[in-house]
Amino acid sequence: MTTLSLVIPLLNEEGNLRLLHQKLTEVLSTLDCSYEIIFVNDGSADGSPQILEELFKSDPAVQVIHFQQNFGKTAGLVAGFRQSRGEIIITMDADLQDDPAEIPAMLAKLKEGYDLVAAWRYHRHDPIDKTWPSRIFNWGVSTFSGVRLHDFNCGFKVYRRAVTERIPLYSDFHRFIPVLAVGQGFRVTELPVQHHPRHAGVSKYGAGRTIRGLLDFITVLFLTTYLKHPLRLFGLAGLAMFGLGGLIELYLAVEWLQRALGLAEVEPIGTRPLFTVGILAMILGIQLFSTGLLGEMIRYFTFRPEQEYAIKKILQHDS
Ligand code: UDP
Ligand code: MG
Repeated sequence: MTTLSLVIPLLNEEGNLRLLHQKLTEVLSTLDCSYEIIFVNDGSADGSPQILEELFKSDPAVQVIHFQQNFGKTAGLVAGFRQSRGEIIITMDADLQDDPAEIPAMLAKLKEGYDLVAAWRYHRHDPIDKTWPSRIFNWGVSTFSGVRLHDFNCGFKVYRRAVTERIPLYSDFHRFIPVLAVGQGFRVTELPVQHHPRHAGVSKYGAGRTIRGLLDFITVLFLTTYLKHPLRLFGLAGLAMFGLGGLIELYLAVEWLQRALGLAEVEPIGTRPLFTVGILAMILGIQLFSTGLLGEMIRYFTFRPEQEYAIKKILQHDS
C-alpha cells in the first residue's frame, strides 16, 4: 500500500488547525493509502503549539516538529521532507486556502506519469496587492526559466519522494520548487484547483517578498543554469568587455601617435571621456573574468558527483 506524507508548515495558525486536521482526515481516510500528517510549527507564538500537541495525542497519524524559532516556510518544508517516510509527499498551507478535497485529483494526475504536480489557483481568493505581484512573478519565472506553469508558488503540491530528496532548498526557494525540479530532470505539471479565502488568521507575507523573490529568482536561475560553468558566463562577458576597452584604447593610441608625429590635427587624448571609458571597460573585463575563475575554483573544490546528475533507474546484474 502506498504511504502518503502530508507536510504542513505553519506559523500562528491556531484558528485553522483543528478544522484542517478534520478535513484532511475525512479525505485521507477514503483513500486506499496509509498516511502521516507532519505539522511543522515554524515558531508560532499563538495557541498553535498546544493545539498540535492535542492533535498529536488524539491521532496516531499526526507528527509534529516544533522549530526553536521562526525559520521560514522553506525551512519548514525541508524539515517535513526529512521527517517524512511516504513514497508520495503532499505539501499544503495550513490556512485552508488549499482544499484537501482536491487531494485525490492531484494524486491521479501524479499517477499519469509525473514526478511533481503543482496546484494552479486559477481563481485566486487573495487581495489584489497579492494577486497582481504574483501574476507578474509567475509570468517572469515562466518566461525566464522556460518552465511553463501558471502558478509556481502555490503551497499545495504533490511530489514523488525522489523530488523532495533531490531538490536543494534554502533561503525562500519554496517559490521555485518547480524550476528546481525541472533542473533535475523531473517531469512537472500543474492542475487547476479550487482556492479559498484564508479561513482564519492573517497572511504572513507582505510586499517585502517581491524584491526578495526577485533576488532569489536570479540565484535559482544562476544555480540551475550557469553554476555548472561560471567561466562560460563571466569569462565570455569579461573577454568581450576587455576586448571593447582594448579596441578603444588602441584607437586612441593611434590618434596619440598621429599627433606625436605631427601627422594629423587631433585633440590630446588624456582628457577625453572615451579614454576613461576604455580603461573602465578593460578593468571591468578583468574583474568579470576573475569572478568566473573564482566561480570555477569554488566549483572545483566543492564538487560532489551525486549533485551532478539525477539517476532515474539503474539496471545491473547481481555479482
Ligand atoms: N508560514 C510558515 N512560516 C512563515 C510564514 C508562513 O510556516 O514564516 C506558513 C503559513 O502558516 C501558511 C503558509 O506558510 O501555512 C503560507 O503562508 P500564508 O498563508 O501567510 O501566505 P499567503 O497565502 O498569504 O501567500
Ligand atoms: Mg495563505
